Amino acid sequence: MARRSRPNDEPESIRAALVDLLTNFAAELKRSNLRAKVIALVPAFHKLRDLGCSLIPKAEAASARDRIIAYFRRYPRRVIDGDELMVVSGIAEWARRVRELRVQFGWLIYSGVTFHDIAEDAEAVENAQEMVSIEAALGVHPYKIKPDQYVLMRDEEDRRAAFRWNVLNEVRRKKVSVTEKIIEYFRRNVGEEITGEELKYLAKDKKEWARRVRELRTEHGWPIVTKNSGREDLAVGVYVLEEDRQAYEHDRAIPDPVRVAVLQRDGFKCVECGWNRSMLSRDDPRKMLELHHRQHHKDRGENTVDNLVTLCNVHHDKIHRRSSLH
Ligand SMILES: [Zn+2]
Ligand SMILES: [Zn+2]
Repeated sequence: MARRSRPNDEPESIRAALVDLLTNFAAELKRSNLRAKVIALVPAFHKLRDLGCSLIPKAEAASARDRIIAYFRRYPRRVIDGDELMVVSGIAEWARRVRELRVQFGWLIYSGVTFHDIAEDAEAVENAQEMVSIEAALGVHPYKIKPDQYVLMRDEEDRRAAFRWNVLNEVRRKKVSVTEKIIEYFRRNVGEEITGEELKYLAKDKKEWARRVRELRTEHGWPIVTKNSGREDLAVGVYVLEEDRQAYEHDRAIPDPVRVAVLQRDGFKCVECGWNRSMLSRDDPRKMLELHHRQHHKDRGENTVDNLVTLCNVHHDKIHRRSSLH
C-alpha cells in the first residue's frame, strides 16, 4: 500500500502532490465509512514523510541515519527536538538511529536524559562545574533540556568509537557493579575520549553512572579527567582515563576546583622538571600530571591549594620513594 515517492522527487513536487491528496480527501471526509477515510489518508501520511526526507538532498545523505547526522551537523551545540529528527529521518525508529550514532558511531550526541543524569549529581562540585560548562556551551541550563531533546556537542566523528563498541558490550554484560564496569571499560581504553552516553549505556541506563565516575576520580584516585578537572582541551561531556594508575592514597579526595587552581598556579607543568602534556612522547616515562600534598594528608595535610603541588608521574614517584625511606 505504501507508495513512496521516486528518489529524485523535489520537495516542491512532493508538496504539490500532498496538497492534491488532501484536497481529494475533502470528498472522502463527507462519506461515513470510517475505514475508507483512514485508508484514503494513508497516502497523505507517506507523502508528508517523503516531504520531510526530501528536505536534505539525497546526494548529501542517503539513509535515515545519514539525514539525522547531517541535520545535527548543521546545528552543532543547539538543542534539537526529537520531533525534528522524526521529520528529517522520515522513520518511526529515529530514536534507535540516534542511539546508534552516539554509541556505535562515535558522535558526541547527548540526550536530555543524560544531561539530567549529570544534573542529578550536581550537588557534587565537579558536576556543578560540568553544568556551568554545558550551560555556557549551549546557552541553556541542562535542567531545561527535555528528555526527548538532543544536542550534538562536537561536530566531529570519533572513529575509534566503533572499535570500542565490542568492548563496551562485553563489559556491559558482566555481572558486576556499575563502578566495576565503568573502571574496567576505562582501563581497557586508556587515553581514549569516552562519552557520558557510552557510560550510561554501560550502566544499563542506571542514573548512578555520573556519580560513580566522579567517585572513581575523587575518591578512588583514578585520573579520569574532564574539561572541568584540568583538561581544558577536551570537549564538554568527554571523559579520559589518562593513565592506568591510581593516585597515591594520600593524594586522593582532592576537589576538582582545588585541582584546577593548583594546575593553573603551576602553569600546567611539573614544578620539578617543567614537563607538560605537549611534551608527551612514547619514549618518555612522563605521562601525566599529578597533585602531591606537601604535608601529607595522613599527617593532617589539607586539600588546599597552598598544600598541593603539580608533579609529573616520574617526579611524584621519586618523592614518594624518598619519603618511604623514613
Ligand atoms: Zn617532573
Ligand atoms: Zn603524593
